[in-house]
Amino acid sequence: MSNILKVAGLHVAYGGIKAVKGIDLEVNEGELIALIGANGAGKTTTLKAITGTLPECKVEGTISYLGESLKGTKSFHLVERKLAMVPEGRGVFTRMSIRENLMMGAYTRTDARGVEDDIARWFDVFPRLKERAAQMAGTLSGGEQQMLAMARALMSHPKLLLLDEPSMGLSPIMVEKIFEVIRKVSSEGITILLVEQNARLALQAAHRGYVMDSGLVTMGGNAAAMLDDPRVKAAYLGE
Ligand code: ATP
Repeated sequence: MSNILKVAGLHVAYGGIKAVKGIDLEVNEGELIALIGANGAGKTTTLKAITGTLPECKVEGTISYLGESLKGTKSFHLVERKLAMVPEGRGVFTRMSIRENLMMGAYTRTDARGVEDDIARWFDVFPRLKERAAQMAGTLSGGEQQMLAMARALMSHPKLLLLDEPSMGLSPIMVEKIFEVIRKVSSEGITILLVEQNARLALQAAHRGYVMDSGLVTMGGNAAAMLDDPRVKAAYLGE
């Protein structure tokens, strides 16, 4: 199994606050990895370090993506390198239509026919988006925007998809739906690093998991085994 992402000795400090204190993690091709942990554990900061959205002076350690450093890669070049991120709070273009949002996700592609086929495919998965294709994305519900953000990210055919708290703020039914889609995308072979506070759903969907606590990775391993681990049960599954 080849390595898609390798993070080694990552430290991030915001001024005096050490948000990430030397973590290692790996994502291999085809894996769905869950990164779980309480509020403020440093999960989002870790994703931001991976995508280079933090000032370099705040970040120490090595991050290698497909065997190369991402240092200095501008956000809009990440898509060309087949790295896609769906941030917390989704980040759809609210004043563009749903169709236009999907087209934006495909802006690096030159196969117009393939792009249309992909849009049709996502419209099949998310009929809600199809019904509203010409509507401004800002008029969608939170869950629908999350779906659009995921579909948009997938339009770029990423080698690695980073998802930050996709279930946040959604109704239980929408959360189920989002996880159904995450499983489906994973079963199609797309490699995913999923940051989630909903530890149970994340570990149920994932192959492997990592727990972050106060800036450290405190546990890691097979996701099914983690679901059975008394420490995980007590601290993250409310059992
Ligand atoms: P959440 O689920 O709430 O996003 P998280 O695990 O993703 O939690 P981070 O957002 O990475 O945690 O935050 C880690 C720590 O860094 C927290 O103590 C947070 O207050 C702090 N922090 C995050 N962003 C900043 C910032 N821009 N400036 C200062 N401190 C920050």
